[in-house]
Amino acid sequence: MLIDFHSHCFPDKIAAGAVEKIGGKAGGLVPHTDGTLDGLSALMKQQNVDHFVVLNIATNEKQMQSVNDFAAKMNEREEVIAFGSVYPKAANVMEELERIKALGLKGVKFQFDYQGLYVDDEIMKPIYKKIAQLDLIIMIHAGFDYGFAPPYMATPERIVNALRWVDSPFIASHWGGLSCAEGVLKQLCGLPLWFDTSYGYGAMAMPTAKMILEKHGVDKMLFGSDCPWHTPREEQRLIESLGLYEAEKEKIYFKNAEKLLGI
Ligand SMILES: [Zn+2]
Repeated sequence: MLIDFHSHCFPDKIAAGAVEKIGGKAGGLVPHTDGTLDGLSALMKQQNVDHFVVLNIATNEKQMQSVNDFAAKMNEREEVIAFGSVYPKAANVMEELERIKALGLKGVKFQFDYQGLYVDDEIMKPIYKKIAQLDLIIMIHAGFDYGFAPPYMATPERIVNALRWVDSPFIASHWGGLSCAEGVLKQLCGLPLWFDTSYGYGAMAMPTAKMILEKHGVDKMLFGSDCPWHTPREEQRLIESLGLYEAEKEKIYFKNAEKLLGI
């Protein structure tokens, strides 16, 4: 069993343009799929992934509802667990969170660099509280974003600050923070939040990954790839290189995710 907790796709009509644009913005990243759900699903199947979480981001107020409708539609597929997203500065953000719950989505993704605010912005306090009331999971892009210059919006110290307001499961993607391993080790490891393993392969030192795992523990780690930017197979190669016991790998590959998602 393998659950990938971090992947992306786009509505068919805009998929090709979207992966080209996002990949280009991040420095010419080569996508491993055509950006569609069918493309993602085929790659996941080929790489023995049983279920995958698809993350969407509302980057403005106008597109927020269509992003969540797309997520709900994707969820009809047995292999897909799609998360919703809200644009924090939208006037109807609280109603949309309620709609996300009503649509049956299990979590909400934030990408603060794209959304133009810090993870610990005061605006977020009531939003995190609402998410806890609705019993949803919070997933954030953590650390650097290769499409943006500093300052980054969800660094380890800002995540610590935001956690004061968080009462629901909170996942900091990319090993707690892309290109922020020192801060993750000093400030985040051991706190009550999850990390996903996405975009680690070739991007972080293997001994660093080991240190993060040792300090944070395998119970709060979720396997993820960030497909189409990385593949599950690549991330699996990193995990396999860390000298973990089978029981530890099972937790990372699917057991923690099953527990968190209630599946
Ligand atoms: Zn991602």
